[in-house]
Amino acid sequence: MTKRFAVILIGLCLLTGAALPPTGPVPTEKPPSPADRPAVPAPAEKPATGGEATPAPTQTPVPAEDVVPAEKPTDAPSPSPPPTGPPPPARGLPPVPGLQPAAPAAIRVEPEDPEQFAACRAELETLGAVFEAAAPIDDGEGCGMSHPITVREILPGITLAPEATFRCETALQLARLTRETIIPTARIALADKGELKAIHQASAYICRNRNNATTGKISEHAHGNAVDIAALEFDKGIVPMAIAAQDDGTFPAAFQRSLNAAACLYFATVLSPGSDEAHKDHLHLDVIERKGDYRFCR
Ligand SMILES: [Zn+2]
Repeated sequence: MTKRFAVILIGLCLLTGAALPPTGPVPTEKPPSPADRPAVPAPAEKPATGGEATPAPTQTPVPAEDVVPAEKPTDAPSPSPPPTGPPPPARGLPPVPGLQPAAPAAIRVEPEDPEQFAACRAELETLGAVFEAAAPIDDGEGCGMSHPITVREILPGITLAPEATFRCETALQLARLTRETIIPTARIALADKGELKAIHQASAYICRNRNNATTGKISEHAHGNAVDIAALEFDKGIVPMAIAAQDDGTFPAAFQRSLNAAACLYFATVLSPGSDEAHKDHLHLDVIERKGDYRFCR
């Protein structure tokens, strides 16, 4: 009896002893660890990255992401202003590198009236200008023209230096201004310089904003409507475009004032040397079309 009782007792002890150890430690350790983890990991990460450096990296990515969305809205308004032309679609296309073949489709600049161009070209040929038609230009952002021409001589024997590419209308008005005003007045005021042999241009067609600004309206140069004259070259010297004060009684000043005023008969916009900060050393001329043939000449 005692032996059987002892066996049963030992059996019970083994059962309870084996059951308690495993169930005891496991449940008691698990609950504390998850609760403590939030506090422990934080200090553990700080030393790894370098103490105070930890907060910095977390702040940096935030502003970086803010910058991206901030730039997108600013880009968005700019495509909307030029609703006149199809430039906006161009900005949407670049991000997709693999699907670009559709881009070089049609000219997005406003096409010039073929009859008007033909008439202009015929008149320019009659005046004796040396030029040739160039391929259509479409540089996006509204820059370009459907019927550009490249002019080497604005009149027979009078070169355009360097040769310039712009619309026929721009060339035609420059040829008329040269023939009807520059040559005759120069013969009076700059007689000692001899005959006109070249017009030095500083800018013809170029895709940019007005006054080379990063924002704002697109320049008439970007439509092929403008030319900047930097100097006139005669047989006996070069005469740069100059700021002509009203009280300057010299012949060169009188010539410059005459040129500034006469140019307004041919070009819708004339910004003479000194008219503003951006036009200190050249004469800007363009054939922009305004309501009522309004002229802006300064
Ligand atoms: Zn200009």
